[in-house]
Amino acid sequence: MALANGLIDLRSDTVTPPTPEMRRAMARAEVGDDVFGDDPTVNRLQERAAALTGQEAGLFVASGTMGNLVALLTHCERGQEVIVGASSHIYLNEVGGMAALGGLLACPIANQPDGTLSLEAIAENIRSEDVHHPRTRLVCLENTQNICGGVPLPVDCVKSAAALAHGRGLKLHVDGARLFNAAVALGVDAAELAGPADSVMFCLSKGLCAPVGSVLCGPADFIAEARRYRKQVGGGMRQAGILAAAGLVALDTMIERLEDDHANARRLAAGLCGLPGLAFDPGEPATNMVYFNVTARARVTPDELVDRLRAHGIVLDGNGTARFRVVTHYWVNPADVDRTVDAFRAVLA
Ligand SMILES: *Cc1c(COP(=O)(O)O)cnc(C)c1O
Repeated sequence: MALANGLIDLRSDTVTPPTPEMRRAMARAEVGDDVFGDDPTVNRLQERAAALTGQEAGLFVASGTMGNLVALLTHCERGQEVIVGASSHIYLNEVGGMAALGGLLACPIANQPDGTLSLEAIAENIRSEDVHHPRTRLVCLENTQNICGGVPLPVDCVKSAAALAHGRGLKLHVDGARLFNAAVALGVDAAELAGPADSVMFCLSKGLCAPVGSVLCGPADFIAEARRYRKQVGGGMRQAGILAAAGLVALDTMIERLEDDHANARRLAAGLCGLPGLAFDPGEPATNMVYFNVTARARVTPDELVDRLRAHGIVLDGNGTARFRVVTHYWVNPADVDRTVDAFRAVLA
């Protein structure tokens, strides 16, 4: 079940091409001009995304980064401060867009090892009203938390962060790029994880396999305002129903099967963890990500590991450091996992 190029690509769940059913839906999608609000397929996707996340309305955006940016622009005014995890995608991996494009200050606080932000740390970092201070406006959570191991944040964590934020007059945004991985792993509805927040973004283009796009969801008046910011950042797309059609197939057919990706991640971790030269974080993978370090005692350097596995048809994301993230997805089946373990063994043992 490897990709068309025959490779087992474990760099990310973003490498997933659309399924044949998605391509058929795209070919026959009914479309209109979405900037006029006229694209029936986009409208259907947005309604379905809102229902699934326990929010009133949705807005189809080009990427997760755009969805988060538009959310921050809509919630905050220039010069205001946003409490984010120090290991969050918004803080580390969105090119500083909140500062560069929104004039917003990040107030990073350390993620706890389980990916959550401590309520005490959030509370302590909310600014008091003082002529010298920026005003804190927003708290952001990430679910699943990518860098902390692809860990799902439980319902209680989102509810208590929302209660704290609302009690202090702030809003809560959830970067739910992999919200459905979290929901499936926890055995809860995505609406339970996203409903308490004031906005949530999730990606269609990752484990759900759609080729392009994310959806930002929230109250109807918030989404109406977000539509203006989406246009401002150049995200008003026209016959976007071609893309939304794949997104609808993703929501209909790809959510429950995420459990297969999680099982494959556990299978991969179990197969790799006895090999010499690899050090794993404690515990099983919670979702579709396996993190490990290549130790100084390994037979190969991290770069050599990447090169040698490539010769076996296995693609890893080598970032030059000893830390690796390996991600399972729709185009990786249990036989591919076993082939991957065999290749690692050949390179390391
Ligand atoms: C991938 C990702 C995003 C951004 O999505 P893009 O579509 O790549 O812009 C945001 N947050 C998290 C946690 C992600 O993993």
